[in-house]
This record gives sequence, C-alpha cells and structure tokens, in this order.
Amino acid sequence: MANYQRVESGAEPGGVGRRYRVSSPVDLQPIGEFEAASREAVRGAVERARKAQRSWAGQSFAARAALMQRLIEVFVERQDEMIDCVVRETGKARAEALAMEVFAPCVTAAYYAKRAAEFLQPEQRTPAGLMRFAKKLTLIYKPLGVVGLITPWNAPVVLAVNPLAQALMAGNAVVHKPSEVTPFSAMLIEEFTRDAGFPEHLYQVLQGDGQTGADLIEAGVDKISFTGSVATGRKVGEACGRNLIPATLELGGKDAMIVCADADLDRAAEGAVRGACWNSGHYCCSTERVYVPEPVYEPFVQKVVAHASALRQSGEEPFDVGAVFWDRQMEIIESHMADAKARGAKVLVGGRRNPDLRGSYFEPTVLVDVNHEMQIMQRETFGPIVAIQKVRDEDEALRLSNDSEYGLGGNIWTTDVERGLRLAAQMETGGVCINDMTMTYGIPEAPFGGVKSSGIGQVNGAQGIRGYCHAHPIVVDRKTRGPLQGGYPYTEKGSAGMRRLMHLLFRTRLGRLFT
Ligand code: NAD
Repeated sequence: MANYQRVESGAEPGGVGRRYRVSSPVDLQPIGEFEAASREAVRGAVERARKAQRSWAGQSFAARAALMQRLIEVFVERQDEMIDCVVRETGKARAEALAMEVFAPCVTAAYYAKRAAEFLQPEQRTPAGLMRFAKKLTLIYKPLGVVGLITPWNAPVVLAVNPLAQALMAGNAVVHKPSEVTPFSAMLIEEFTRDAGFPEHLYQVLQGDGQTGADLIEAGVDKISFTGSVATGRKVGEACGRNLIPATLELGGKDAMIVCADADLDRAAEGAVRGACWNSGHYCCSTERVYVPEPVYEPFVQKVVAHASALRQSGEEPFDVGAVFWDRQMEIIESHMADAKARGAKVLVGGRRNPDLRGSYFEPTVLVDVNHEMQIMQRETFGPIVAIQKVRDEDEALRLSNDSEYGLGGNIWTTDVERGLRLAAQMETGGVCINDMTMTYGIPEAPFGGVKSSGIGQVNGAQGIRGYCHAHPIVVDRKTRGPLQGGYPYTEKGSAGMRRLMHLLFRTRLGRLFT
C-alpha cells in the first residue's frame, strides 16, 4: 500500500477537495487523512501571515527569544508525543527521532534565540577610500515579510524548525507546506507553537501536495525556503524567478567518502556504516559512495561487513535501522540495486526488502564491485546501502568523488589531518568532514548548502539568518547643509579635477593608500 493515497478524486489542481490517506511504513496501516489546502486557502494564509508579521516585526529580539525559549520548553515537555508521531509517520528508530527531531530542533531554536540580536543588530561601516571623508554608512537588517517554507519528509521536524527559528527571530511570519508523506509532525509543531503562546497566524501549516507548494510560491510570499529533491528544486527555482522572489534551494546529494591508506580503518568502517544507514539512509548528506585504495581495501571491507551485519532491524525497539519512510523511495532503492547487480556488483550483506517484517523495510546493505556505470554510484539512492569501490590511490578517489552531478557534502578519513585538508579543498562540494560525516548541518557556524545540482544559496549561522532579511544600507552625508559636490552645471574645471584625482589615486603610491 502506498504511504499516501488520494482518496477523493475529481478536484482540480489547486481546487478544494483533494483528500489524502496516509499509512505508516511500520505496518502499512492507515494513520490518518488530510485535505490539501486549496489555492484560495493558501492565499488567505499568506494574507493573515502578513498582518501578523507587522506587529511581530515591532517586537524586540528579547521578546521574540522569550517565545522561542517557551517553544523549546514545550518540545522538551512533549518530546514523547513528537517522537511517537515521527516514528509512526516515518518508521525511523526512536533514538533517531529523539536526536534529530527533538534534540536538534531545540539546539537550533536556542542558537538563534540567543544570537539573533547580535547577528542582526544595526552596523556602522566606514566607507572605503575618499568616500569615508564624505559619508557614513549604517546597515540595518529588515525582515523580508512572509516566508514560504517547503520541506521534505526525511527529517520533517528539524528541517522545518531550523529555518522557522531563523525566519521568526529575524522578524518574519512563516507559512509552511510540509511533505505530504509526513503531515502529522508539522501539525504537532504548529500545536507546540500555539502552546508556547506564539501570536496567531505567525506560523501557519498548510497541508498539501506538490500543487499546494506551487500555489504557495504564487501567493505573494517574500521568500521561499525550500528543501527537497533536485527535480522539484528546479521547478521551485523557476517559479521563484518568475515571481522575482529570493529562494534558498537545499537539494539532494550523493556524498562520497574517501578512505586514505593511513586511515584508522576501524573508525572509518564504522563511519561508512553509520554514514550510509543513519535515518535509514534518508538524509541529504548520507554517505552514498565509498572509495578505498587497494592496499587497505580488503581489511576495510571486512570491517564494514562486520559492522553492517551487527545492525538490528525490526519493527520493535530497540533496533538500529528503521523503515524506508516512503514507498516511492523503496522503488528507487530497489531499481538502483537491480541495476548494480545486473552490471556485476556483489552483495555482501542485505540487499533486499526485509522478508521478516510486515512494513516497508530494506535491509542494511553492503555492496562491492561497483563502478560509475551504475545508477547506485550516479543517482541519489537515499537508502541504507554502503557501496564500496576499490581505487588505485587517493587521486583516483578524488577524481571519482568529483565525477557527479551532485555536490552537497563529502567526507575524508585519514590520520594525517593536513592531507585531509588538502583533499577536502579539492572536493567539489558545499562542505566536507574529516574523520566524521554529516556534521556540516549540525554546526550552525558552518554555511550549509550544495554546489552543482545540490542547490543554490547557503543557510545557517549569521549568514543564514541574514538571508531572511533585507540588508538595508542607509548612507548619511557628513554635511547637512551647503551645496552638493559635483553638481550642475558640469564644467571643464570639474572634469579636469576628476582626472587629476584619478591620476593621484590610481597611479601614485600615496594615492593607492586611499583606494
Ligand atoms: P520533493 O522535492 O519530492 O518534495 C519536497 C517538498 O516539495 C514537498 O513538500 C513537496 O510536496 C513539495 N513540492 C513538490 N512539488 C512541488 C512544486 N512543484 N512546487 C513547490 N513544492 C513542491 O523531495 P522529498 O522526496 O520530499 O525529499 C527528499 C529530497 O530532499 C532528497 O533529494 C534529499 O536529498 C533532499 N534533502 C535535501 C536536504 C538539504 O539540506 N540539502 C535536506 C534534506 C533532504
């Protein structure tokens, strides 16, 4: 049975009456229904958000932070409800739901609550060159207005709360369209914000499908924060371009892992398995390709097999690797596996749906003898699969790592950090970890975002929260009275003065001090 199914047909795209039934991947049983917001409802939500935003923008950072702190408290108080909801909706392990969907949202909300005032306080900047003698510059960060937030299903809470905290702390209102695969956790976030005392309509959740997301972009929002696939990202980028609104596009990845010959192989093998299987392999910075030089290939593979074979997968806690959250993802995983096997890849562990479980589970898998002809090394698989390719040396590993349309993250394993840094600088990705993986999203000071097809724009940290603002320069002349310089009428004398000044500034040593 599909994770979500249309139960009412006949409604036009954007119209009323598009109802969906959602089933849990844990046991394929229905867990609820939702109706997609109509185009009218989307417009109404954006209008209400705009009204709420006006008074919110007038609140001090301290007042906004106090509400964010209250939201964190609700998350901590009601953590089991959120974990139950996410587990039912996604089938991920409880430990992952706790770490990713409760702990991480609290960390990110606390981070921006505490630092927004510092990141967004007005700045006085001294203009460069001669201009400093004539002008002063003040920069203020003004909220954009209403932010449209569109999120995926793989980490439904943290991928919503992280941009939400930034947008709200910057003084915006947010209208959120969560994934149709995971609607219930978003409803719970909205309930938590009500419980925390957030002003009405400051954060609204609109349930819906892709059409609802498309309608949100057209509904008069001032920015889109989008996280999702490359294919949808392209459509979102096009629509935002048409509407002339800014967007950050956080898209898919195909992260490579380079194991250097001097790596601690035990640590690297554990990292490969965790990097590939964490969250059932459903995260954008999941380790999808592993390149290992010949001299250490055999011992590395043995260690990976030992780690992967020890993983527990079951519908009953405690277990390590949960369900495949979405049945369509299962089809992609199975088709990549079939393609790899048909082209000569060998399965050492797993490699199939778990036959002992009723729900949608793919066994933790170790695959060797793979190459770049295979989809499993080229397309985003998003499953619990460690695919290992033997290479001559690190140079070949680097060349293959960069042979990808994606460029989100990557990781390098070596006991020589200088070597790791040299390789990292040559990886064509948004970020890199050395002797660890995925942490670039978890450290807000690290600008996060992909290159190539993995996205546009970087999020998080000071730069990220400023992305929810318009940096508004105010230039103040040092004189408040008297004639303007360089005004009408233009004269030969004035032009000759500018030529002499150019000579002085750009052709003399003294002059260059003022450029
Ligand atoms: P998706 O692109 O199918 O859907 C994402 C969201 O977009 C959903 O809410 C969906 O309803 C909405 N949507 C669909 N069509 C739309 C349209 N035309 N206009 C506007 N919105 C539309 O992605 P998914 O399958 O939910 O998520 C998995 C993908 O997300 C993977 O590729 C993964 O790598 C990526 N991802 C990226 C990051 C990152 O930070 N780079 C993080 C997590 C997930």
